[in-house]
Amino acid sequence: MEMYEVTVIGGGPAGIAAATSASNHGAKTLLIEREGKLGGILKQCIHDGFGVTRFQTKLSGPEYAEKEIAKLEQTTVHVSLLTFVSAIQRKDDLYHLDLITRKGMKHITTKKIILATGCRERTSRQVFIQGTNPAGVFTAGTAQYYINILGKMPTKKCVILGSGDIGLIMARRITLEGGTVEGVYEIKPSPSGLTRNIVQCLNDFNIPLHLSTTVTRVFGTDRLEAVEVASVDAKMNPIEGTQRVIPCDALILSVGLIPENEIGEMVQIKLNPKTKGPFCDQTLMTLQPNIYSCGNALHVSDLADFVSETGDLAGLSASLNKNTIRELVKVGFDNHFGYVVPSHIDVQGPLSPVVFYFRSSAEYDTMKVKLFVNGKMFAQRVFTHLKPPEMERWALDLKTSGAIHSVEFRMEK
Ligand SMILES: Cc1cc2nc3c(=O)[nH]c(=O)nc-3n(C[C@H](O)[C@H](O)[C@H](O)COP(=O)(O)OP(=O)(O)OC[C@H]3O[C@@H](n4cnc5c(N)ncnc54)[C@H](O)[C@@H]3O)c2cc1C
Repeated sequence: MEMYEVTVIGGGPAGIAAATSASNHGAKTLLIEREGKLGGILKQCIHDGFGVTRFQTKLSGPEYAEKEIAKLEQTTVHVSLLTFVSAIQRKDDLYHLDLITRKGMKHITTKKIILATGCRERTSRQVFIQGTNPAGVFTAGTAQYYINILGKMPTKKCVILGSGDIGLIMARRITLEGGTVEGVYEIKPSPSGLTRNIVQCLNDFNIPLHLSTTVTRVFGTDRLEAVEVASVDAKMNPIEGTQRVIPCDALILSVGLIPENEIGEMVQIKLNPKTKGPFCDQTLMTLQPNIYSCGNALHVSDLADFVSETGDLAGLSASLNKNTIRELVKVGFDNHFGYVVPSHIDVQGPLSPVVFYFRSSAEYDTMKVKLFVNGKMFAQRVFTHLKPPEMERWALDLKTSGAIHSVEFRMEK
């Protein structure tokens, strides 16, 4: 049976960075990917905008992935493609993995696992729309796969429900390929995607964004023929009399991403209801000993650059022979925050620096974000504009804080 120090599950940018980092820090590392190629979702993201922080240049998704794969190829990481993890068991401080490969079942053992399984899109089953069940209702990621990987147009005229980034990017892509996007319909009063995507993908192509509006019904038997949209009130209930029917052949959903953690659930990692990823400390170790999480499996990031950064850290942390007896302090935050990652600080662990990622719970102008350690203000930073779609990063040196008993973020004007 093969034995590894670190096994990384998922070969997207997070997993590639984690495996590269673990190997560069001396750990015998295995990288497992279920698809035939490394790169994860980046393979289908052919637009640019990746790598500005990590490589100081604008790259397309495949170019970004190629650069990361080139770094991985300089290491001794064993890469296992077309491999799926079907079971994990913990015995005597080791994890035993059953793998399904093209050559049959295989078993390996590993001291540490890094979960880098990415995220998945919410589907039509997770949004309530009345009507029939015709072909032509699919997620923005599926539309992206059809156009960018298969080279096939899945629609001539579509409606996009939800203003998540992938939907915005696909609105532009479909328009560039000769299709018509009748509009993007968002149930909330503000967009879910990044401002840069609203400007570059909708405004620049005259694609209307309808806020506080949703799709209430679909029509069609074999193929979608039309959708009904309606304005919603403050409680997001459709307002009677505002309905209108839009003929179209596709409804494209961009209604959110959920970290993919089914494998982690096999080893009872505890999921944070705020992020849907695992609770973790500042080394990205989950509450289960020697299981780490990074990338979009940990929390959905706006940029691949942040995803790779968490991969670097998870790989470094897993390669160290860390004492697994931790002293965890929960990171508190007030209701101005949507979430803060990491959720815990191991006060016996490395404290310099601790990288915090957070999202606000609503849109705010000029706010002071303060970190209180043991009830006293330890650090303060002014953020001129905070909004939920834009993740913030704040690296802090907590070493100078002395013994830590409590950590709490607060926000005020
Ligand atoms: C459909 C979709 C489209 C996106 N488009 C964009 C975009 O246009 N621009 C952008 O900035 N961001 C986009 N994102 C966000 C994107 O996910 C991140 O930027 C980045 O790719 C996340 O990296 P990751 O390594 O965490 O996950 P991923 O890139 O998703 O990689 C996860 C990898 O894990 C593998 N995996 C999962 N489960 C298993 C398993 N059980 N066994 C083995 N392997 C497994 C998957 O096959 C995949 O290769 C998109 C996300 C999705 C879901």
